[in-house]
Amino acid sequence: MNAISERFIKYAKVSTASDPDSSSSPSSKRQFDLLRILETELITLGLEDVFLSGTGVLYAKVPGGIPGDVIGLIAHVDTSPDSPGEGVNPQLHTNWDGQPIILKNEVRIDPAECADMLRYKGGTIITSDGTTLLGADDKAGVAIIMETCKWLIDNPSIRRPRIVVAFTPDEEVGRGVDNFDVDRFGADFAYTVDGGEVTEVSSETFNAWSANWKITGREVHPGSASGSMINAVRIAGELIALMRSEEMPENSSGRDGYDYPLSVNGNTGLAEVKVILRDFTTEGMVERRRRMEAIRDCLSALFPGSQIGLTMKEQYSNPGEILKKDRRLVDFALRGMRLSGIDVQEGSIRGGTDGSRLSFMGVPTANLPTGGELFHSRREWISEEGLSIALEGLKNILIIWGEEL
Ligand SMILES: [Zn+2]
Repeated sequence: MNAISERFIKYAKVSTASDPDSSSSPSSKRQFDLLRILETELITLGLEDVFLSGTGVLYAKVPGGIPGDVIGLIAHVDTSPDSPGEGVNPQLHTNWDGQPIILKNEVRIDPAECADMLRYKGGTIITSDGTTLLGADDKAGVAIIMETCKWLIDNPSIRRPRIVVAFTPDEEVGRGVDNFDVDRFGADFAYTVDGGEVTEVSSETFNAWSANWKITGREVHPGSASGSMINAVRIAGELIALMRSEEMPENSSGRDGYDYPLSVNGNTGLAEVKVILRDFTTEGMVERRRRMEAIRDCLSALFPGSQIGLTMKEQYSNPGEILKKDRRLVDFALRGMRLSGIDVQEGSIRGGTDGSRLSFMGVPTANLPTGGELFHSRREWISEEGLSIALEGLKNILIIWGEEL
């Protein structure tokens, strides 16, 4: 096994699921288990100003580098709470023959359902045993950054920019940079290493809003309800019926956005409906919000006596416009990945990353691949070769920055 895979597997075995129901920071104490390992490793490697905050953000600086822009590298230590994350037992599938991989519990990884898996035919695929997720999202990113730090320390003569690193908690519950200290980090530009297949460098994410509905009806005994009951459950049903099914996630892909009814809870007196809105463009998002308001007005008219509350909140924004202002961040990433032999394209993440918010906090941030796929599930996989390509790509990117500064 190569060094990057060994390092990845070591981190994957540490349980770090975040917890959407907790309001503490980090949302789960177990994230400190990996953060403390990384803290010790960074100090041992010889990084400077290693600092682990009480809220679970780990910062460090690589000594040396030429004056000019400081480049930051970021990965998150938590894994998705959507799939079991306790007791990850990584499996190596060597000489993979290109056929579906079957794990425990009939968990089946089919290359036909993956964007870029057959690239690794004949190589080694790493999966969980089928009972948990693997956690390549984002332990692969953590491992790639740690190996890069080791390479930088071992090769002090390489001409390269000043480099800082940070490991964040709670990315999977949307709170990765809630307590992020941009000044302490000290980067002018950054890369999150939190992407999927090696063929994509992401310079865009969705614009994201939540639309939370609170529908108040009128409870009356059903036997004597005629003419007086207002049923919030029925209004909630009507609300979803008024949303456009062609705009829902199951019917959208590529650069489409979506309106997604996430959950419905309630009874006659009170129903709550959670909806999320996603769009790559600002105009598209304005239109989606306008549609929610139109539905509210329509429901108010259809159900006199009800109260239809709609609260919309911004969750994160597409940093695409910010990244266009200085193309070096993305262009050097594309060049660096191409140097490692990959036909890489600039892409858009159908989601968000810590980088979407960091870009608006003053650190323009693009996203680099890790090589993994099928994240947040027990089918998640990554390959030894993919990890190596992503690592070589990142090293090339830093060398290009050094040449261009
Ligand atoms: Zn991630």
